[in-house]
Amino acid sequence: MKKIGVLTSGGDAPGMNAAIRAVVRYGCEHDMEVYGILRGYNGLMQGDMYQMNLRSVSNIINRGGTILYSARSEEFKTEAGMQKAIAVCKEVGLDGIVVIGGDGSFKGARDLSLRGIPCIGVPGTIDNDIGCCDYTIGYDTAMNTVREMVDRLRDTTESHDRCSVVEVMGRKAGYIALYAGIACGATTILIPELEYDLQRDVIDRMRKTQKTGKKHFIIVVAEGIGKVDEMAKKIQDYTGVETRATVLGHVQRGGTPTVRDRVNASLMGARAVQLLQEGKSNRVVAMKKDDIVDYDIFDALNMTKTLDIDLYQIAHDISI
Ligand code: ATP
Repeated sequence: MKKIGVLTSGGDAPGMNAAIRAVVRYGCEHDMEVYGILRGYNGLMQGDMYQMNLRSVSNIINRGGTILYSARSEEFKTEAGMQKAIAVCKEVGLDGIVVIGGDGSFKGARDLSLRGIPCIGVPGTIDNDIGCCDYTIGYDTAMNTVREMVDRLRDTTESHDRCSVVEVMGRKAGYIALYAGIACGATTILIPELEYDLQRDVIDRMRKTQKTGKKHFIIVVAEGIGKVDEMAKKIQDYTGVETRATVLGHVQRGGTPTVRDRVNASLMGARAVQLLQEGKSNRVVAMKKDDIVDYDIFDALNMTKTLDIDLYQIAHDISI
């Protein structure tokens, strides 16, 4: 391995910069030329990249977003797009690429690996929705951001005896909603993995806690459930409690990465370069409990993980 590339793809996540930094520094320290590819697979197809050095990644470990920018590319999914990317890799002489992104980005890495460009995936997505990983880069920061935002909402919700329905990210995965919901003392948490009934899970629970003297309520709802405005209106109509909906949206994507995100991203970035150094291809770096492991991308994409339903039950029991 003499020349490697690094790119970020899909949704940005806090900690991606720490991973880029680790790839660049580890690569440079091991006599490699490291190229930063801009805007994910778009930049790869267009040859939009520059050689990085130790100082190119100074002062970024503390920054959210990604200094390499990120993008989604439909063209790259086509054979013509893929061939364009491969031609660029050959022209520049890239011996391998580290792809930091979610499972969509890993599919791109798998397809490139299959066509002779060794790729290693590093999980960067706030949703923590990658089957082979217990933890993804950005998830910890996103949860802490939600925690801070909901704590703020709680202050005003409590002061006015209101109910706040808060939508947090997670289209198909309720990890952010469940963990941040527990941390914020939500009365009810609604996640896409579990069916819910507004009357039973929200309104009846609110009424039950009202009888014990509770006057303000936080309902955390994952994005995949949606319809929070409609939900807030129904809650207000049925309970008589003034109810507001808040969609946190993209604030959850940004911000200073937490210690956990910085450390794990650094370790995983360095591990990705080690794998390329060892001549490996088509692998995903993952965290299982506190260990850094790696899997074949084909296997990784077929792995599933399930949310801890016991945890959900406990959250339910103690939030009353
Ligand atoms: P996030 O979890 O933040 O959404 P992601 O990596 O899953 O991140 P996607 O939009 O699914 O985000 O994928 C990012 C890019 O990866 C796509 O725009 C596309 O260029 C590439 N990609 C996705 N799926 C495939 C596929 N099946 N084959 C080849 N490339 C793919």
